[in-house]
Amino acid sequence: MQKFTFFLTSALLLPTLSCKTVKPTVPQTSKAVEAPVPQTALVPYGPAFAALWQQQSAEYKALCFQAYNIAKLRLNERLQQAHEKPLAIVTDIDETILDNSPYTVHTSLHGQSYSDKTWFEWTAKAAADTVPGALSFLQFAASKGVHIYYITNRAETEREVTLKNLQHWHFPDADNAHLLLKTTTSGKESRRQQVAETHDIALLMGDNLSDFAVIFDKLPSDQREQVTKQSAADFGNRFIVLPNPMYGDWLPAMFQYNYKRSTPEMDSILKSKLKDY
Ligand SMILES: [Mg+2]
Repeated sequence: MQKFTFFLTSALLLPTLSCKTVKPTVPQTSKAVEAPVPQTALVPYGPAFAALWQQQSAEYKALCFQAYNIAKLRLNERLQQAHEKPLAIVTDIDETILDNSPYTVHTSLHGQSYSDKTWFEWTAKAAADTVPGALSFLQFAASKGVHIYYITNRAETEREVTLKNLQHWHFPDADNAHLLLKTTTSGKESRRQQVAETHDIALLMGDNLSDFAVIFDKLPSDQREQVTKQSAADFGNRFIVLPNPMYGDWLPAMFQYNYKRSTPEMDSILKSKLKDY
């Protein structure tokens, strides 16, 4: 507030001062009263803006409906084809079928980055809303005899509250047998293979590339882009992608997955990645 007052006062005084000079000078350029470039804080405050978009933009909802409309088209196609084993859908949970934007808002506005402690406090409430279109799509799939497997990197300690949240909304197959939580690794490949032993996986759904295939795991940013281009034909086919502007591997990929960096250091790295002109 003090800075704002200073610049406002300067702006008001300038015309007065110029009148007192013997030779009227060229009016002061806007540079003299221009506000300084603010110190941005992409970490930890930036994600609040992303959460605002997720919560308030109809476009976010439209993108989710688009994803699930495509999922339905693909599933109907798959249902017409022969399959040896029962069909399954493998889906991620967070920002794929449950919306955790209130968690991002809460931490971001308190100047905090993600922590297991605050995350567990949020998930313990079992209060996450559904991602638009997710529930009706999975209920449709279940009505066609497709089994739903939830592969998530939520912790074993979150099992009960996660099932409570899913059951609250009546997600199909929301039980212990269909919920595959994080064990020793955040990589999901072994859990996908576990499902594939007994099922033909019709679709994979997620907001993070590692929800789809091991080829995307823990890559630096440039290689993530490269592998994504190589897999372009899979998106909207076997892979159904949901938008998540708040978090995901795209962020730590810029920090070389070093989660021990300080907040100023992370903020500085993110700022260095912004493309200005
Ligand atoms: Mg997710």
